[in-house]
Amino acid sequence: MRAETNQKTQIAIVGAGIAGCIAALALSKHFQVILLDKHTHPLAKAGECLPPAARRILKLLGIEHLLDNGPHLVSQGMLSYWGSSQPAVVDNLRNPDGLGWHLNRTQFETQLRLQCLRSGVQCIWPAKPITSKFHDNRWLLEYEHKQQTLSLSANVVIDASGRHSVFARQQGVTRKQYDKLVSIWLSAQFSVSKNMALISSSQRGWWYSAPIPSDQFGGAINNAQSRIVSWQLNAEQLQKQDHQDVEQFLQQARMTHGFKTLIEQLIPNTQTLHGLVAANTSKLEQVAGKQWYAIGDTAMSFDPLSSQGMYNAMASAMQLCDMLIHNGLHGRDTACHYQQQMDKVWQHYLHHKSLYYKQAGMMA
Ligand SMILES: Cc1cc2nc3c(=O)[nH]c(=O)nc-3n(C[C@H](O)[C@H](O)[C@H](O)COP(=O)(O)OP(=O)(O)OC[C@H]3O[C@@H](n4cnc5c(N)ncnc54)[C@H](O)[C@@H]3O)c2cc1C
Repeated sequence: MRAETNQKTQIAIVGAGIAGCIAALALSKHFQVILLDKHTHPLAKAGECLPPAARRILKLLGIEHLLDNGPHLVSQGMLSYWGSSQPAVVDNLRNPDGLGWHLNRTQFETQLRLQCLRSGVQCIWPAKPITSKFHDNRWLLEYEHKQQTLSLSANVVIDASGRHSVFARQQGVTRKQYDKLVSIWLSAQFSVSKNMALISSSQRGWWYSAPIPSDQFGGAINNAQSRIVSWQLNAEQLQKQDHQDVEQFLQQARMTHGFKTLIEQLIPNTQTLHGLVAANTSKLEQVAGKQWYAIGDTAMSFDPLSSQGMYNAMASAMQLCDMLIHNGLHGRDTACHYQQQMDKVWQHYLHHKSLYYKQAGMMA
């Protein structure tokens, strides 16, 4: 099929997750932006805990009301059995940025996409990039849209396609994986009233549970609380039943500090085992190149233990956008400076990750 070149823009962003939408919103006041995503609607995802500092970024973009008026829950803090059989309370009340959130993740991403449409960003979904080529100082992208092959040309491309890093991979950039962590997650209704998250290290990996907005995965039951429960472990230690047999999953949870009581409060037949997702620490060998940049999970994926993935998606998008706005689209040193900033964030993350795992007697 012949590709039709029908669009020209200053910036093309591949991926309308949190990183892509935040970048599109920050850039749309200064440049023409096209935002592409392969899915017409955001998919359900496991990550829901948004740290309090995220409010600062949403405030800069004038969209902090999305958190207050949306279906999201405030997060009061966490009960932690990390490396200990005794619980410790990690209290958000002491955080200078205030409380965090347990997001209805799909709804939050839908809110961000709508905000992009309202801000004049040209949004194309479904759109799946097929090829990319640098020609005459511009990028030419071919993409599949409703069984047609279309193309667009852009001065700058931002890859925000998450772990797939679709554009960066097309440029031959490799992604280094630092561990083999996977996550198995379940949603269910519980007869619990506490709005706290729960974390616990265990013999095989670690467990996490948090309240989620009641409308997220099926109907809510009166006086019950919807929660997710997830188990993070090394793929090499994984057995088939762990992620295929809900009883085996719950049995493993019962053997973990703090989770026995929680599982006793699970309302029978309300559980859905969502299966297995990659949760490894990984990073692109190069996060910027000739008139292209990678942000969010595309640039670097954090262990869910950090609860920093969504914040990093927002922060890396804002860091890059500040540079593009101040230096222009063809700023000579932007790629180099952005790479240096991301390398610093990465070193900081690896250091903290190793401290936390050591605390629980585990290898980072
Ligand atoms: C088990 C688990 C639990 C987590 N828990 C938390 C948590 O509690 N708190 C937290 O902050 N973070 C958490 N995270 C991390 C967080 O979910 C990610 O860091 C975050 O999703 C990164 O956002 P992103 O926009 O960079 O990428 P993504 O969310 O992956 O978005 C990428 C977008 O690109 C699109 N796309 C993909 N491929 C293509 C393609 N070929 N063409 C076009 N579009 C494409 C996708 O449809 C998607 O919309 C967790 C992660 C895991 C795995």
